Amino acid sequence: MNVVVTGGAGFIGANLCRELASHGSIGKVVALDDLSTGSAANLAGTDVELVEGSILDRDLVGDVVAGADAVIHLAARPSVPRSLADPFASHEVNATGTVRVLEACRRRNTHLVAASSSSVYGSVTDLPKHENLPTRPLSPYAASKLATESYTLAYAAAFGLPTLAFRFFNVYGPLQPAGHAYAAVVPAFTDAALRGRPLTVFGDGHQTRDFTYVGTVARVLAEAVLRRVTCPNPVNLAFGTRVSVLELAHQLAKTLEVTIEIRHEAARRGDVRDSQADDGALRSLFARLRAVPLEQGLADTVSWF
Ligand code: NAD
Repeated sequence: MNVVVTGGAGFIGANLCRELASHGSIGKVVALDDLSTGSAANLAGTDVELVEGSILDRDLVGDVVAGADAVIHLAARPSVPRSLADPFASHEVNATGTVRVLEACRRRNTHLVAASSSSVYGSVTDLPKHENLPTRPLSPYAASKLATESYTLAYAAAFGLPTLAFRFFNVYGPLQPAGHAYAAVVPAFTDAALRGRPLTVFGDGHQTRDFTYVGTVARVLAEAVLRRVTCPNPVNLAFGTRVSVLELAHQLAKTLEVTIEIRHEAARRGDVRDSQADDGALRSLFARLRAVPLEQGLADTVSWF
């Protein structure tokens, strides 16, 4: 089985490519990535073939996907703040780029697994977030990820394409970059704590997130293509653990055995208040799944830093 991973040189993509490449029943793994936020170094020392280019390039996507039995579509312009700075760029990659990938898959009825985001729930306050809840995006990023999953499911309904759309929650783990303005909370906190700098918390820190270890995400995605799993509805990919940003900071301090200083800044526009997944649909599709607890995931993450 040959698998293409769009965004395969990024944080989740490179962890996934490594998982796929170490799997006996998977032949060739190709990462299609424009290296805008990803890096070739993330794939160093693996057998993964890196094709450098954009999912917006119709001919390139057609050529790369033609040799694949399955495509895992992760390429995106990520981050809420980035989308507030340039909404059109997020739309172009996350929505139009997804249609490009779907069109290439449609030619040979190639199985497609796509990454959506918990941010699509937006201002809906019900917890846990069940896939049947309405979606009310609070940012252009969230709207563009809703487009990613809507197109993915619409291609299944309209053309019979075998597809699966996951809503990732807050994924963390090795290879997640720190030290830039759009860094995610786990690497940003880890980097600050290791440098003895204050940890910046936006808002009161009582906002909650469902943190998911990247190794678990990679295993689910690999199993999804191996078993050719499809679903007509989006599926949450998280395990219903609700941890506040302040709790995360204190757990990290414990893991690193350091004292930390917390500095509060104004809450960020577009951020959701609480996030916790209902994992019923995920567990019904992937019965043998075991989640990595936050304590263990953080220990693995900091040892990579
Ligand atoms: P990332 O930035 O590390 O990965 C995205 C990858 O896509 C990068 O390697 C980037 O270079 C590549 N890319 C961007 N535009 C491209 C284009 N036009 N053509 C080809 N490649 C392009 O981010 P990530 O955290 O690994 O996110 C992977 C996916 O998961 C994204 O779709 C993101 O929206 C989704 N997601 C992530 C999280 C999370 O917590 N990390 C949460 C929800 C959803």
